[in-house]
Amino acid sequence: MIMADKERIVVKIGTSSLIQENGRVNLASIDRLAFTLACVNNQGYQPILVSSGAIGVGLASLGLTKRPAEIARQQALASIGQTELMRIYSQRFLDYQTKVGQILITRDVLTFPVSLQHVIDTFEVLLADKVIPIVNENDPVAVDELDHHTMFSDNDELSAQVAVKVGASKLIVLSDIDAFYDADPHQDPDAKVIRHVEQLTPEMEAAAGGSGSGLGTGGMVTKLRAAKTMLAAGKQMILCNGKDPAIIKDVLAGKEIGTRFGKGN
Ligand code: GLU
Repeated sequence: MIMADKERIVVKIGTSSLIQENGRVNLASIDRLAFTLACVNNQGYQPILVSSGAIGVGLASLGLTKRPAEIARQQALASIGQTELMRIYSQRFLDYQTKVGQILITRDVLTFPVSLQHVIDTFEVLLADKVIPIVNENDPVAVDELDHHTMFSDNDELSAQVAVKVGASKLIVLSDIDAFYDADPHQDPDAKVIRHVEQLTPEMEAAAGGSGSGLGTGGMVTKLRAAKTMLAAGKQMILCNGKDPAIIKDVLAGKEIGTRFGKGN
């Protein structure tokens, strides 16, 4: 077994990997994620999970399929869903003898030095005790006002910022896309996977942000923004398909999988 000497890694999982197309919670995927992170934790890594899914699980809990437009309703759903999501995570992780702790963050927590230090101190204690922190945005309170910015635009950004602040070496983004392509694979059958990106070019960013052409595949813009944050801090981000979260082990073993942003293997 490979033993990692307390290498800190952040794993980000999105709603599409946690909720099935029929709107129900993907318990098989959560179970696999819990098993994999418990193994990785036992190997000596210090994993931190950034998990979306509060609103998705809230919808599933109430048997709804459509996300309401009203912000207060979305926040209420996140409030319902977050507790249910954590109940499922705690239960699944305990099956693998691993404890988890919840950390809910708003943007101002990371930008105000005193609160940042407090949250880092919490991460340090949890990780030292081999408890896996599970992070999400604190959706019920995060609403941007003119003079008070509490919201992240998305959990890709949140996970990259957490990775940098806690000194993680890698951010593994589990997505519904296999990798970063040189064109939109949904539109272009000749699109080729780019396995390694040492530096983001303006062409890559422009293509990811373009409408209906190039790399404009839904969440790719926010993924590239997260990659940019990681690269600027001299760290790695690996984008890969989260259909089977066991892929995390392959990524850590250095297998050529997904797209690796940053230097080294
Ligand atoms: N915090 C949101 C949720 O848990 C998700 C935000 C995102 O996926 O970017 O539902």
